[in-house]
Amino acid sequence: MLKDTHVSSRHPRAESIRIRERLTKHVETKVLALAGLIAHGRGEAFDYILGEETTPSAKTAITTAAATLLLAELPVLSVNGNVAALCAEEFVELSKATGAKLEVNLFHRLPGREEAIEAVLREAGAEEVLGVDGSATARIDEVFSDRRTVDPRGIFVADVVFVPLEDGDRTEGLVRMGKRVVTVDLNPMSRTAQFADVTIVDNVVRAMPLLVSEAEKLKNESPEALKEIVESYSNRDALSDAMKTMLERLGKLSEKGVYLEPSEG
Ligand code: ATP
Ligand code: MG
Repeated sequence: MLKDTHVSSRHPRAESIRIRERLTKHVETKVLALAGLIAHGRGEAFDYILGEETTPSAKTAITTAAATLLLAELPVLSVNGNVAALCAEEFVELSKATGAKLEVNLFHRLPGREEAIEAVLREAGAEEVLGVDGSATARIDEVFSDRRTVDPRGIFVADVVFVPLEDGDRTEGLVRMGKRVVTVDLNPMSRTAQFADVTIVDNVVRAMPLLVSEAEKLKNESPEALKEIVESYSNRDALSDAMKTMLERLGKLSEKGVYLEPSEG
């Protein structure tokens, strides 16, 4: 998957260490704010408990997310530092498969950050990037924190917004504006996971390639077939399944208190 590393592939947490290295490098490039590292750590803890695998109910949420984006009149994919660092290529592919616009949407608009994220997206093949160069001029009321600005051609007018790894205040603001919200969030208890219409409880690194291939598979389906997928989905059930997976897994592990056997040699 992520190759730029010296970590031995025999290390039991090799993939997780590679992802950490990549995020740390992106603090230097300004793509990631320090708070992004903390958010990642919180996500990782839930992934550990989930079993670091895409569950069947996350797959159902992924199919529903693809159908929701394909049915939208004006879908927008919201890009923050974490997702730019981890899966810019898949964001560009998803935007091409669904016709959704890409918008840089940041909590911490530090000098140079927008430009750094835009550069990562362009390098990944993006042709149009909203929310940069002072174009985020429309305001959205948040619930408990500051107002934030979004692009009047993008999130402001969108009917469906894909906001992976988003803060709860901002998600609630979008829901109040009547947007359909699709997210990826490893914590099924986060406010974003709870408020969204479609919550993919999975690591964004595993979920994005699956979401791209679902969008490509479904893009020639009729609107009726897509609507059927969306209507038969329950986000409450998806969240409940994610919590049950964690509970059952911990239940089994807790019988012996053993997780990893000591490694040989
Ligand atoms: P909320 O504001 O929704 O209550 P929060 O304050 O815990 O949640 P934020 O930092 O606002 O969290 O949002 C980041 C969310 O993204 C967290 O719920 C975190 O678990 C999740 N997350 C972090 N890294 C990943 C990842 N790689 N894949 C999926 N989810 C992740
Ligand atoms: Mg938050």
